[in-house]
Amino acid sequence: MSADALRPANLEEPRAVSARERDALIRELLDVVPSHGVLHDDEDLRPYECDGLSAYRRKPMLVVLPETIEQVQQVLRLCQAHQVPVVARGAGTGLSGGAFPLANGVLLGLAKFNRILAIDPDNRSARVQPGVRNLAISEAAAAHGLYYAPDPSSQIACSIGGNVAENAGGVHCLKYGLTVHNILELKVVTIDGELITLGGQSLDSPGYDLLALMTGSEGMLGVIVEITVKLLPRPERAQVLLAAFDSVERAGEAVAAIIGSGIIPAGLEMMDNNAIRAAEDFVHAGYPVEAEAILLCELDGTNAEVSEDIMKVRNLLIAQGATEVRTAGDDQERLRFWAGRKAAFPAVGRLSPDYYCMDGTIPRKNLGQILRRIGEMSGEFGLRVANVFHAGDGNLHPLILYDADTPGQLERAEDFGGRILELCVEYGGTVTGEHGVGIEKLNQMCTQFTPDELTQFHAVKAAFDPRGLLNPGKAVPTLHRCAEFGAMHVHHGQLPHPDIPRF
Ligand SMILES: Cc1cc2nc3c(=O)[nH]c(=O)nc-3n(C[C@H](O)[C@H](O)[C@H](O)COP(=O)(O)OP(=O)(O)OC[C@H]3O[C@@H](n4cnc5c(N)ncnc54)[C@H](O)[C@@H]3O)c2cc1C
Repeated sequence: MSADALRPANLEEPRAVSARERDALIRELLDVVPSHGVLHDDEDLRPYECDGLSAYRRKPMLVVLPETIEQVQQVLRLCQAHQVPVVARGAGTGLSGGAFPLANGVLLGLAKFNRILAIDPDNRSARVQPGVRNLAISEAAAAHGLYYAPDPSSQIACSIGGNVAENAGGVHCLKYGLTVHNILELKVVTIDGELITLGGQSLDSPGYDLLALMTGSEGMLGVIVEITVKLLPRPERAQVLLAAFDSVERAGEAVAAIIGSGIIPAGLEMMDNNAIRAAEDFVHAGYPVEAEAILLCELDGTNAEVSEDIMKVRNLLIAQGATEVRTAGDDQERLRFWAGRKAAFPAVGRLSPDYYCMDGTIPRKNLGQILRRIGEMSGEFGLRVANVFHAGDGNLHPLILYDADTPGQLERAEDFGGRILELCVEYGGTVTGEHGVGIEKLNQMCTQFTPDELTQFHAVKAAFDPRGLLNPGKAVPTLHRCAEFGAMHVHHGQLPHPDIPRF
């Protein structure tokens, strides 16, 4: 296997499907899904050829857009009968290629499942379909003084089903937890068309915690068709501080100091100079463009709590060497500070024809060191990087800038990204913070986990999907892939996974 074959886009396809088999499947699908929900013409398939990891594209064999749970059940039964793999897709904003289609597979779009079924203010919960946009839940709950806490930067577009499948995070997850901590119950259709309920309407349920297992399973264990989410009361007050630093390392150390002091901010985000300038040019948030790094620290709670915490954090930031600390004077200014952070990804998109967004997590105390290493590697690889990320969680998002039209640059960006993830593992972190593994981080999963651990993951997959028809080839690498990857990454003369045969 060549190095190229290990690149995410060069994944193996499951068995080929003949034109006759495809036509037979289309005919049977048309018996269970309205004709406008079965797409097979070239021009109808094009919009589905990639997700947010748009460097990789492949046209699906078919796109199916069911409208009811019964239709999802029948579609999955048909795919199982024909042995055709299925890739679930929410809004397609995923950044690790989780919804990357298969040329011999069905892409199952959940976009038509876009209804909020019930809001229960007494139980502080909402029952929603998987295609509902993340932000739409908070908008609907606002009338009751409630909101849904996990807020990915993509919340205006991404679906709650995709959030569950990726265990999505966001600015407010530092204090309020990731998606897995904010859902109560899931309804899921298995590959053989059975509808199962995981979790329940109360806080705990008996047996293994399959709700947590399904969360973050990247469409590989079942198709999520309904979600009950927890809602939280809007805090009495929220206020944000903006602190400027003349070095990213000092800003990183300030993050560790804030959390170490016992204060848990509602959000604690960092941007480096490239990201600050890009965001400022884009949305005019009033950021100090000369700063090497800024921190945005939001505190929420009762009036008294926020006043006290603001004072403490301000003093701490100054003690940590902040060159300037500003407190948003009103809600308008607070939203303006956040607007720059929320728009940072598209803003960085204006700096370079393409960027590659990485996602890894490290212990907070190492933030400064890792950011310095990333800066050094940026020189070694000859590619610029903008850093904008959930600093409080230690969740890095280096955006590697490249030009796909310059031969070799995409490959260099991939290698650079891979090295950053391996660095995260070296420091005791993980290869994903919130974007999932998808196709992007398959090789780095080999660095993170031992063959025994990966074998256990495959066993869990087989318990739900014995024939491997749900999103095959994603999230959990085969041991052979790891052996090939390991063979190319001999570290200090030690061959990883020496027990696995090389091909
Ligand atoms: C600008 C930008 C900013 C982002 N910021 C953040 C951020 O702050 N935090 C964060 O966590 N992510 C972020 N993301 C990544 C992305 O938005 C999230 O991963 C999101 O959860 C994906 O939701 P989606 O509906 O687009 O899912 P898709 O991309 O359609 O699918 C993602 C995965 O979920 C599976 N899936 C989707 N729906 C279902 C279902 N109903 N049942 C089973 N499996 C399903 C798919 O098979 C795939 O594996 C960002 C993306 C962009 C483009």
